Amino acid sequence: MKNILGANDDLAALNRKMFADSGVVVMNLMGSPGSGKTTLLEQTLTRLADKIRIAVIEGDLFTAKDAERIERAGVDVIQINTAGGCHLDAAMIQKACASLDLAAIDLLIVENVGNLVCPAEFDLGETFKAVVLSITEGDDKPLKYPLIFKESAVTLLNKIDLLPFTNFDVKSARNDLTTLHPSIKIFETSCTLGTGLDAWCAWLLERAAV
Ligand code: MG
Ligand code: ZN
Repeated sequence: MKNILGANDDLAALNRKMFADSGVVVMNLMGSPGSGKTTLLEQTLTRLADKIRIAVIEGDLFTAKDAERIERAGVDVIQINTAGGCHLDAAMIQKACASLDLAAIDLLIVENVGNLVCPAEFDLGETFKAVVLSITEGDDKPLKYPLIFKESAVTLLNKIDLLPFTNFDVKSARNDLTTLHPSIKIFETSCTLGTGLDAWCAWLLERAAV
């Protein structure tokens, strides 16, 4: 495991230099299957695609279903199929970037494989990580899967419109997130109602402009 992560870190450092040289900000978007990553991405692209130049890398075990959705938003998208692999790694990103014109992009969004565990361990060379935690997953997840929340600059408490139908305690989730990672940014979002999306996109736009 140590050797695998060490080799990955070396490649991630090369990716990070490649992105810096091209002036590309890279967000590694993580979260459980069904947390709403792709829908959030669609909503984000709708709001930002005319403000900055964005490309997307979609990671999934199988199918190009998510890439087809992103393509409809009118941005360049590359699908990576891991054929059963439960996370993306730096080598996959390096290979995918060979078919992207990085000089023509401001923000590259990588949607990782749906998984709260190992995607957090594999550096892709990204500028920052983001994690989507949907209300239906339960407020206990930050303490049960601490690494992904420690590693992420931002957490989106997504599907916030479903709050009345669950026992999810937002205050307790916020406390746990801040205990794990004092500087973490938290947004409450609903892609169904549009809640919080303007604030999230404004934050992302600011990060992408750095
Ligand atoms: Mg998806
Ligand atoms: Zn994995």
